[in-house]
Amino acid sequence: MNKEVLIIGGGITGMQCAISLTEIGIKATIVEKSDKLGGKLNDWYKLFPTFTSASEVINPIKDRVKALGIDVQLNSEVIKLTPTTITLSDHTIINADAIVICSGFDIFDAKRKEEYGYKIYNNVITSVDLERMFCEGKVENLDNDTPKRIAILHCVGSRDEKVCQTHCSRVCCVAGVKQAIELKELYPKSEIFNFYMDIRMFGSGYEELYKEAQIKHNIHFVRGRISEAAQTIDNKIQIKAEDTLIGRPLKMSVDLLVLMVGMSAGKSNKDFANIDGVNQNNNGFIAPKDLFIDSVSSDIDSIFYAGCVTSPKSVGESITEGIAAANKVAKFLKS
Ligand SMILES: Cc1cc2nc3c(=O)[nH]c(=O)nc-3n(C[C@H](O)[C@H](O)[C@H](O)COP(=O)(O)OP(=O)(O)OC[C@H]3O[C@@H](n4cnc5c(N)ncnc54)[C@H](O)[C@@H]3O)c2cc1C
Ligand code: SF4
Repeated sequence: MNKEVLIIGGGITGMQCAISLTEIGIKATIVEKSDKLGGKLNDWYKLFPTFTSASEVINPIKDRVKALGIDVQLNSEVIKLTPTTITLSDHTIINADAIVICSGFDIFDAKRKEEYGYKIYNNVITSVDLERMFCEGKVENLDNDTPKRIAILHCVGSRDEKVCQTHCSRVCCVAGVKQAIELKELYPKSEIFNFYMDIRMFGSGYEELYKEAQIKHNIHFVRGRISEAAQTIDNKIQIKAEDTLIGRPLKMSVDLLVLMVGMSAGKSNKDFANIDGVNQNNNGFIAPKDLFIDSVSSDIDSIFYAGCVTSPKSVGESITEGIAAANKVAKFLKS
């Protein structure tokens, strides 16, 4: 077919969408703002719920993109859209018969929750920092010490009206359980406490992982939100919380506090929503045409969406949407 499709974003979703289009016989070009393909998965160590290493998932997909000869333009940020063109940050304009937006999500900036002291106290880190530490094979606190007591705080920058992030990021509950197990395996003598508002284990195998964390690894789950964190004289982090199951306030010193940061809408969404027919929802994610029967379409015939650009999703869900969007594009181009 003599048609060209531009895919914005070379994360797992964009790569899968490009592969599916190429396999159907449609030329796809991936336009990626960073200097490599893979998106956030480049930074994750092992994936829930199976502890499969992220590279085992991402590398075969990168290899397939290469083997199929898919055109990839790196270091190319898309700043503007029309139904048949994209504009890059160097003002180059590229034409296309269809466009698929796979630009993913941004990580919530934990500094916005000042009360937790991220970037103020060294022993307060985020779930993203922890993934990096796992990748580097080093999880230590400020004193290069083995952390003996660790607190993991769920819902940082999600379900929080104060920072205008009212959505649930969906994946952080199970990611918090996964990270707790990984920490416990690394430091079997440590005590780990996950502080949660609700535990949301929506996916296949997630509830089982949550049970395993409690029964096999003796990880403690405390229902309650940490209200503040402060550094003590010996560089520990003192947290104040309320155990809402027993209705009692709680104070505890930990060696490491891990903030489970949420998935925020990508900053490019605003630029994309400058044309009629591409809309944002209340939390800034791109709103699909129909949440039930058309979740990968916009209100413009030639523009489609896939992956976390529309809402927080797991890797499996993102890949599935990449395939779904490719099929929709093919149907549109053949019509
Ligand atoms: C801490 C954490 C841990 C997680 N762990 C797991 C896990 O264990 N298992 C699991 O199933 N899921 C996990 N997830 C979810 C997983 O990261 C997402 O499902 C996945 O990254 C979605 O892929 P994506 O391609 O849609 O988006 P992204 O990974 O965000 O990729 C989007 C790509 O688009 C590019 N881009 C953005 N804007 C532009 C632009 N304007 N122009 C050009 N390119 C652009 C970006 O540079 C990026 O490469 C985790 C999420 C978090 C936050
Ligand atoms: S998935 Fe869990 S930690 Fe993440 S926002 Fe939802 S309830 Fe909070």
